[in-house]
Amino acid sequence: MTLKTIGVVGAGTMGNGIAQVFAQAGYDVRLIDVAQPMLERARTAIDKSLAKFVEKGKLVAADRDATLARLGTFTTIDALADADYVVEAIVENAEAKRDLFARLDALTRPEVILSSNTSSISITLLGAATKRPDKVLGMHFMNPVPLMTLVELIRGQSTSNESMQVATELCTKLGKNGVEAADYPGFIANRILMPMLNEAFFAVMEGVGTPEAIDAVMKGGMNHPMGPLTLADFIGLDVCLAILNVLHEGLGDPKYRPCPLLRRMVAAGHLGRKSGRGFYVYA
Ligand code: NAD
Repeated sequence: MTLKTIGVVGAGTMGNGIAQVFAQAGYDVRLIDVAQPMLERARTAIDKSLAKFVEKGKLVAADRDATLARLGTFTTIDALADADYVVEAIVENAEAKRDLFARLDALTRPEVILSSNTSSISITLLGAATKRPDKVLGMHFMNPVPLMTLVELIRGQSTSNESMQVATELCTKLGKNGVEAADYPGFIANRILMPMLNEAFFAVMEGVGTPEAIDAVMKGGMNHPMGPLTLADFIGLDVCLAILNVLHEGLGDPKYRPCPLLRRMVAAGHLGRKSGRGFYVYA
């Protein structure tokens, strides 16, 4: 089947970037969010990102306009009845995702692949909410999507080779590199990244260093492009907490317990960049 129309559900930090890269690659994109303001925010973010590409000479103005013309926004998934491929990027909550996958399963054609951008939730669990678990897989983009070239492709218990092949080829069409991971909590990226970020949260809580000092050590000393606390603010502290909870529950090892300071910050609504305040304050 030739893929033409791509559905992206969830227009938050990740959904708008995912919609942008598909539209840039020539696909018709339908971006869905339950919240109209998020769709407006997504359009603004995509406009800004494309403008930067034009400014840097990486995109011509005509291609920017064509990209924007390929993008439609909607507040219900009904617009995906004739979609050829779907990427889900809603909130990191297993029940919300399972409910959505069951609804997408009832709505879309049976041959359509339903993928999830989840950072940590079991793909097998999402597949089991549908009658097509062979066509459910993880397509885990990295933030910021238009700039990062890696996509983790997660094979659930029942995901078919054909579905993995379609997703791999799709990554290539987007100019990205798909790397396969098995369906264990956090897959590869967050299994390794989150314990490091969590350790940085403990280091702040225990007064080992200020956020500035910890970030400076990891940037200057370990050659990381971004310090762990800057990165956590960028990802979203609520997202970090959700992933650590999945690692903790799924692997049963106390080494993954989320730092109490992280819990407290999330409870206070200090979610990082998106709320204007996390380990740092944003204008
Ligand atoms: P976010 O909170 O910024 O956005 C989530 C969006 O989903 C919101 O706009 C919300 O209104 C919408 N939404 C919630 N329920 C919905 C529903 N039933 N139907 C339609 N829209 C709905 O979250 P995010 O950071 O973009 O994360 C989205 C997914 O991507 C999560 O699974 C997360 O784990 C994963 N992810 C996040 C990052 C990151 O750096 N933030 C990186 C990789 C993967």
